[in-house]
Amino acid sequence: MARYTGPACRLCRREGRKLYLKGERCLTGKCAFERRSSAPGQHGAQSKKMREYGLQLRAKQTAKRFYGVQEGQFAKYYEKATKKSGVTGENLLSLLERRLDNVVYRMGMAESRRDARQLVLHGHFRLNGKKVTIPSLCVKVGDEITVREESKNSPKFKELMEKMQATRVTPKWLECDSENFKAKVVAIPERSDIDFDFEEQLIVELYSK
Ligand code: SF4
Repeated sequence: MARYTGPACRLCRREGRKLYLKGERCLTGKCAFERRSSAPGQHGAQSKKMREYGLQLRAKQTAKRFYGVQEGQFAKYYEKATKKSGVTGENLLSLLERRLDNVVYRMGMAESRRDARQLVLHGHFRLNGKKVTIPSLCVKVGDEITVREESKNSPKFKELMEKMQATRVTPKWLECDSENFKAKVVAIPERSDIDFDFEEQLIVELYSK
């Protein structure tokens, strides 16, 4: 599936907020948004007052870009969220949070969701003992995610994991066993488990038009 391959920092500037797409770099002074936060393009520096539609659009783009999902796929997530009981906006975020690439990132096994996606695509992970290479796969309660044996012994992987484990806070819906490079999904992620202030209600308003 086609995906955005342009500069990640440009997306943060477009959304007017940090989306943390580049791992450690996002927390340092090298962050492009810290140095220049205006929107990209010739007229980016001009301040524009956004109307209702603009705000809704930005809320949707923020969530889409944060999780690295394309437009069509995002619309399908929304569709799925509307069919579930409960609050649609919260269902939507919960579905996005359960993507395998996001789980790998949350486990502390990748610097960013982009990197996690690459690692999944390259077959470094097993889901319930079986090889998986689909970053969008939706995990469910009871699923166990492990790192394949050959990857566990790779110095690069070990180094990355030690670095990440020291800083990453694992959400309570995941039970991580970092020594054995594995994690288990113990609950469905709730809105309070997601540490980013999405405006999911605006996304619902946009799709309800
Ligand atoms: Fe966004 Fe990270 Fe780039 Fe900063 S370094 S602009 S947070 S992707």
